[in-house]
Amino acid sequence: MAGHRSLWLQEALAGAEDQPPLRGDVRADVCIVGGGFTGLWTAYELCRADPRLEVVVLEREVAGFGASGRNGGWVVGALSGAREQWAERGGRAGALALERAIQETVDEIGRAVERERIECGFVKGGSLVVAQTEPELERVRAHVEADRAWGLEERDSVLLDAAQLGERVRVQGARGASFTPHCARVQPARLVRGLAEAAERAGAVVYEQTPVLAVEPHLARTPFGDVRARWVVRATEGYSVGLPGLRRAVAPINSSMIVTEPLGADAWAELGWQQAETMLDGRHLYAYLQRTPDDRIAIGGRGIPYRFGSKTDREGPPAERTVWELRARLRDLFGAAADVPLAGAWHGVLGVTRNWLPAVGVDRKTGLAWAAGYAGEGVAASNLAGRTLRDLLLGERTPLTELPWVSPPARPWEPEPFRYLGIRAVHGLYAAADASERRTGRRSRLEQLANLVSGRG
Ligand SMILES: Cc1cc2nc3c(=O)[nH]c(=O)nc-3n(C[C@H](O)[C@H](O)[C@H](O)COP(=O)(O)OP(=O)(O)OC[C@H]3O[C@@H](n4cnc5c(N)ncnc54)[C@H](O)[C@@H]3O)c2cc1C
Repeated sequence: MAGHRSLWLQEALAGAEDQPPLRGDVRADVCIVGGGFTGLWTAYELCRADPRLEVVVLEREVAGFGASGRNGGWVVGALSGAREQWAERGGRAGALALERAIQETVDEIGRAVERERIECGFVKGGSLVVAQTEPELERVRAHVEADRAWGLEERDSVLLDAAQLGERVRVQGARGASFTPHCARVQPARLVRGLAEAAERAGAVVYEQTPVLAVEPHLARTPFGDVRARWVVRATEGYSVGLPGLRRAVAPINSSMIVTEPLGADAWAELGWQQAETMLDGRHLYAYLQRTPDDRIAIGGRGIPYRFGSKTDREGPPAERTVWELRARLRDLFGAAADVPLAGAWHGVLGVTRNWLPAVGVDRKTGLAWAAGYAGEGVAASNLAGRTLRDLLLGERTPLTELPWVSPPARPWEPEPFRYLGIRAVHGLYAAADASERRTGRRSRLEQLANLVSGRG
């Protein structure tokens, strides 16, 4: 099955040959299912820690085909889930240790990129959340205040007024923004392909075009042969629902992206945006943006959020309506300056657990290991997960293995049609709250209702 590839993956693959599939049965120390960031960071870290280990990665398409080769390219030093939820698990100290660990991961990835000479446009320019309405500004302010209440400092987040924001990026009708330095921008497909090569140089073997049909204790079954291993790591994120027994483990939520042709010098002079900050607008159903290493604007958002029965076969381009909506967002943020033709559009699935918390763990009895549920914040988190899995599989107790996200997988989602109805209802409520805020300039009650239904409020 040759699935639809993002423009970024096509760019990164130019001239590369697919790795051959598995041929016959194999034995290994560690078998990793899925060749995205999670699988490849885990393989890379294990091989670097112990070069004698035999590590095999099984990828159904090509390495980077999934979310890792089609995301917004935010290496974001944040994790899905509220601090209060993490504190229920690990106390306040545990929640903060996890937060610091994910923030430090941004630099950790920067070091790996340099060490392995991966040309992926890594620039740590921080990240902005831009408010264009009063309710959006209220939320942005509340986030920065919550950071302070948790003991985070000005070096972690600050509030910018409209003029201060304008010195960075000029957004139409902006009232202010928050800024955090804990984020880098990358071309993600180049990062994941470079990582695949680095993992192979370190000693891992990556088999592409090799679908895993079932994951069992110490065993991964494929049509071409079985891999028996002491450890089998599930690194299939939103696609996990296709494996036996995992249909309700995560919800594969869709996110869609468009990327423009490169903007000219005049447009950039008008927009500013010289420091590669990533940017979020202030809506509930937010759009995420980056200025790409080759001077385009990439913008992504939810599109059609979820398909009945957790379908993940999104092989074509996104719906025309979604492309139109993303273009409209771009115009709303930057006006005519960003009105240039589009170069590409694609979509993909991210994995969301029932409680919105990602989990990393191992089961010593069955030899199964997992890392999943990053929602929209998996680029840095998958590196932290890879290093954590390394320590867990090597049987070492380290500060990473004590973090509160080391846990059994989250409880499963509801069966259909409840899963579909619940997810679509929450999406609809947030969309209605956004529309109401834009119309009235006031915060909408639908926001609280959406938070309540989604279990976040
Ligand atoms: C459009 C979009 C934008 C996003 N933007 C951001 C962002 O800017 N920043 C951020 O932090 N996060 C973002 N995310 C989320 C982030 O991309 C993911 O959390 C992260 O890439 C997950 O990596 P992974 O390796 O766990 O999963 P994936 O990259 O999805 O990899 C899973 C791999 O497993 C393979 N696979 C699946 N089933 C099988 C099987 N049966 N046998 C063998 N192989 C199999 C798939 O082909 C795939 O390559 C975004 C996601 C999407 C879709």
